[in-house]
Amino acid sequence: MAGPSTAPSPIGAKVDGPAASVMETYARQNLIFERGEGSWLYTETAEKYLDFGSGVAVNALGHAHPHLIEALKDQADKLWHTSNLYRVGEQERLASRLTDATFADKVFFCNSGAEACEGAIKIARRYHFAKGNPERTQIITFEGSFHGRTLAALAAAANPRYLEGFGEPAPGFVSVPFADHDALKAAIAPETAAIMIEPVQGEGGVRIVPADCLQGLRELCDRNEILLIIDEVQTGVGRTGTLFAYEQSGIEPDIMPIAKGIGGGFPLGAILATQAAASGMAPGTHGSTFGGNPLAMAVGNAVLDIVNQQDFLDEVARKSGRLRQGLAQLEDEFGDLVEEVRISGLLSGLKLRDHVKAADLSAATTNEQLLTVGASDNVLRIIPPLTVTEAELSDGLARLRRALTSLRNGSQ
Ligand SMILES: *Cc1c(COP(=O)(O)O)cnc(C)c1O
Repeated sequence: MAGPSTAPSPIGAKVDGPAASVMETYARQNLIFERGEGSWLYTETAEKYLDFGSGVAVNALGHAHPHLIEALKDQADKLWHTSNLYRVGEQERLASRLTDATFADKVFFCNSGAEACEGAIKIARRYHFAKGNPERTQIITFEGSFHGRTLAALAAAANPRYLEGFGEPAPGFVSVPFADHDALKAAIAPETAAIMIEPVQGEGGVRIVPADCLQGLRELCDRNEILLIIDEVQTGVGRTGTLFAYEQSGIEPDIMPIAKGIGGGFPLGAILATQAAASGMAPGTHGSTFGGNPLAMAVGNAVLDIVNQQDFLDEVARKSGRLRQGLAQLEDEFGDLVEEVRISGLLSGLKLRDHVKAADLSAATTNEQLLTVGASDNVLRIIPPLTVTEAELSDGLARLRRALTSLRNGSQ
């Protein structure tokens, strides 16, 4: 991974007019959407796209969900922001609903996934500090992981591509290869504070951590008084068919950063923790000006109204079965292009063979007016809203088939 990174690929992005004023940190597709409804996005010229990217697993309830609109509008009429100098009623309500629904006893609200991961790291270090072990600051993470773009989150994920040119990575992180149990055990040291893992690596290419590995991690942590941080920024809020993915492993984390789906499109993140894990966090140890403000809390509560219902989650699991079946069919049919199907709930990906590029398949699905999202490991992510209908799933699979066909024809 040495050498200068290549210039951002334009992918048809316009760089004249007002677009030239936007810093060029993204390789954007040349599309502007004006409105959305359910699983659909509409351009300014009313062209219709089926959104199987969900704004990178954010629009859990699709676009323009009436319940979310109502909650946001109601709150907008009443109060937007007071700061955390005062109690925030909706914040207390969302925190208590999240603790009722999970392993956690305490919740801190922030505005994004990276902030939630940073906060999780702070909480873990502070826990050991408060117990009289200030030397325990090291966080063990996994290759291929993603925890956000702030300096500590980048150091945590240890992806050289994202760290290049930003100076010395923040200290206190050790990255071990994915699924390498010996390397993990060897990395445990007296300074270890926590192990941080995504139950499914999203950006890393829908790489699923088996339940027995999470169980093994839990035991390892317990034996060594290490905290277990499960990063559910992408997998949380119903995405994998349970409210949180950890539930499927039968173990519980000590700390869990979440974001993406919990705001349904409104910027919102949170850190959930047990009473014990959060025991070092006294007034003044952490904070956020915007975190947990009334607008975000109203929307977060509205998202939870819908997602935290057993029949809604059962539907997600059922639709996951349908998607799995459809993707498996495509894997059979396009075995020359597709190496593997990876899926957990409605977080799915096609791992492509080396001679095809996920970016090319993504461009081909855009041509079929189906939005998908690339990932590392040459994977194309298919992440429909959790509210996607059976008919839309079939429609999306048909578009994906056409995209694969055009890619096969084009690459011959
Ligand atoms: C997206 C993501 C983040 C970062 O979230 P931002 O809101 O972009 O800061 C962190 N962890 C995981 C697992 C993610 O998928």
